[in-house]
Amino acid sequence: MAKYSNQKNKINYEEIEEAANEIKKGNIVLFPTETVYGIGANALDEKAVRKIFVAKGRAGDNPLIVHVSSIEMVENIVKEISHLEQKLIENFWPGPLTIIFGRKSSKIIPNVVTANLDTVGIRMPSNKIAKALIERANVPIAAPSANISGKPSGTKVEDIIDELENKVSYILDGGFVDIGLESTVVRVNKDEINILRPGKITKSQLEKMRSKS
Ligand code: AMP
Ligand code: MG
Repeated sequence: MAKYSNQKNKINYEEIEEAANEIKKGNIVLFPTETVYGIGANALDEKAVRKIFVAKGRAGDNPLIVHVSSIEMVENIVKEISHLEQKLIENFWPGPLTIIFGRKSSKIIPNVVTANLDTVGIRMPSNKIAKALIERANVPIAAPSANISGKPSGTKVEDIIDELENKVSYILDGGFVDIGLESTVVRVNKDEINILRPGKITKSQLEKMRSKS
C-alpha cells in the first residue's frame, strides 16, 4: 500500500522529500501536475521506468514525457536547443507545453522512456508540488498520465486511487488539478512548429512565437 500525503491545503515539503526519496530508490510516485495527475519514475533509471508501464498496462511503443525543474536538466538530455525552441521555453515554461528534442544518448535517457526513438519529449511543470518533487529527487521524472491505459486521465486522486494505490509507493494528493487537459506536444523543424498532440497551449499561441524574434 502506498504512503498517502495530503497536500491539498498546505504543501508539506517533508513529505514531498519522502516521495522524492522513493523516486531516488527506483520506485514510482503519483503526483499532481497542472494538467493531470502523473505517475512518475526516475527518467534515468530503466528499471524504475519499466514499473510505470506495468502499473498502467501501457504499450511499450508509447513514449513518456520527461518532466524537469531546470534548464540544466534539459541540457543534460538533449543534443541542442534551437533558437525557436529557446523562445518556446521562455514563453511557455513552466507550463503545459511538451517539446520534442533530439536525444543526446540512450546512455542518459534510456530507450524504454522514448520507445526507442532518438527524440525525447520534455516539459517543465508549473505545479508547485511537481516542481518540488523533481527538485528534491534531483533527477528528471518520466511520467505519463496517472490512469490505467485507455481510461480517462485523473484530475483528482479520488478518480484514480482505487486502480493505482497498490501499484505506486507514494501518493501526493494536491486536490483538483487546474487544467484537466493534457499538455500540447510540439516538434520544432527549423522555423516551423508542428503540433503532434493538441492540448492546453493553442495553435495561435504557438504561431505568435514564429514572428517574434
Ligand atoms: P502521456 O500519454 O500524457 O504521457 O503523453 C505521452 C505522449 O507524448 C505520447 O503519446 C506522444 O504523443 C508524446 N510524446 C512523448 N515523447 C515523444 C517523442 N519522443 N516523440 C513524439 N511524441 C512523443
Ligand atoms: Mg495519457
